[in-house]
Amino acid sequence: MMGCKSAPKAELPNERDIRCPKHGIHLGGTMKVTDPVCGMRFEQKKAVTSVEYQGRTYYFCTEACRRQFEEDPDRYLEQPA
Ligand SMILES: [Zn+2]
Repeated sequence: MMGCKSAPKAELPNERDIRCPKHGIHLGGTMKVTDPVCGMRFEQKKAVTSVEYQGRTYYFCTEACRRQFEEDPDRYLEQPA
């Protein structure tokens, strides 16, 4: 998770959902997010649905992906490379 440390927090406005881009969401707009279930990348604003889990928000391309995630979230999180 070294990527997170390089994120220049000082430059970021007072958004609550700031995350390292490598690990999911970041500021709004055209920021790309990754569906943890199917691995698809898309713009955050195009996410069909999202879910909060352990203080983080995850975005999904379909309700089906979200349901799959909710059934076994840990399976999809921070998988070792
Ligand atoms: Zn998906």
